[in-house]
Amino acid sequence: MPKMSSTTRRTRPPDGSASGDAAYKDARWRAALRRRLLAWYRRAARNLPWRRTRDPYLIWVSEIMLQQTVVAAAVPYFERFAARFPTIRALADADEEEVLRLWEGLGYYRRARQLHKAARVVRDEHGGQFPRDIAAVRRLPGVGRYTAGAVLSIAFDAPHPILEANTMRLLARLTAYRGDPRSAAGQQFLWSVAELLLPRHGAGTFNQALMELGSQLCTPRNPQCEACPVATLCAARRLGLADVISAAPRRPAIAEVREAAVIVWRGGRVLLARREAGERWAGLWDFPRFPIAEGLNGSLAAELARQVARETGIRIRNLRPFVTLRHSVTRFRITLECHEATYASSGRAAVTGRTLRWVPPAELAGYPLNTTGRKLSRLVSEA
Ligand code: SF4
Repeated sequence: MPKMSSTTRRTRPPDGSASGDAAYKDARWRAALRRRLLAWYRRAARNLPWRRTRDPYLIWVSEIMLQQTVVAAAVPYFERFAARFPTIRALADADEEEVLRLWEGLGYYRRARQLHKAARVVRDEHGGQFPRDIAAVRRLPGVGRYTAGAVLSIAFDAPHPILEANTMRLLARLTAYRGDPRSAAGQQFLWSVAELLLPRHGAGTFNQALMELGSQLCTPRNPQCEACPVATLCAARRLGLADVISAAPRRPAIAEVREAAVIVWRGGRVLLARREAGERWAGLWDFPRFPIAEGLNGSLAAELARQVARETGIRIRNLRPFVTLRHSVTRFRITLECHEATYASSGRAAVTGRTLRWVPPAELAGYPLNTTGRKLSRLVSEA
């Protein structure tokens, strides 16, 4: 490890909290870090589809997909998306429903809606060319400082730092930062470290190498310090703090949730309702679905009939059990009790103004649905 001056050792991080070590301020330390990190990345980088392109649009798509989604799950989605929408213009010209259909199963559908909206901004305000100016990029819907820096550095080698979950943890450990990395002070400190570490050239490769190291070796639990190319530069390791700094937060307690969905049949078609802006799964279609209140008094059938009428204006009869699906979303374990029912009559138009459609089962495949909606649609089509 390069020697540090005593002045350097006494320096405190910008937020004033006690960092274990300020070695990162030493130019030799930073040069050693870059050299070792890049050499390791050349050997260890995973061969991922978005790493084979410098097209800012495709890099942007991958960055949006990778928010909240692990790499292995994102790869097939990215390949399908890139094949169907190979350019910003192709995405901008598409219907939102088609975009959501391709996103189906990835979750966090707001990402897809914003990506689509942003593609339209690029088409209409930037002539279809992804802007190079970071301020213009950050004005795009759904693009924050991290995404803008990642796309511009990787596509154009522009000197912008990045900070996301993996690099946040890695930089906190390298500097033995013991505050909360997600606090305003922690963010300010870690962004300033990311900026300082950035090389003059090759920012995109460097940023990707940081993320790769954070995700592959400097993991939230049990970081693999023995295999780490920068272990001798790492303050957390030297101070025995690698396991405590930025360790994964304790998983929150699991909550059990009970919901019901109703497949309403009318002359060989089933009822779908569109989820409106501001609702969970906005923009997707769904079978009428409701939470079942804890300690529901009285009959579930009567309660579901009442809910269907309230939400859709449609009265149902002959409600019968169809299937029970179990799935988990974040900390919720959901039991979805699915029922079938027959259309009886239409009352006044739904108070909610919800968009409804009667769909033949064979056409359900064309509608964007959430994960359980899709499972249910397959069972309906096979029934
Ligand atoms: S030595 Fe360990 S804690 Fe430090 S950067 Fe490497 S993997 Fe992370």
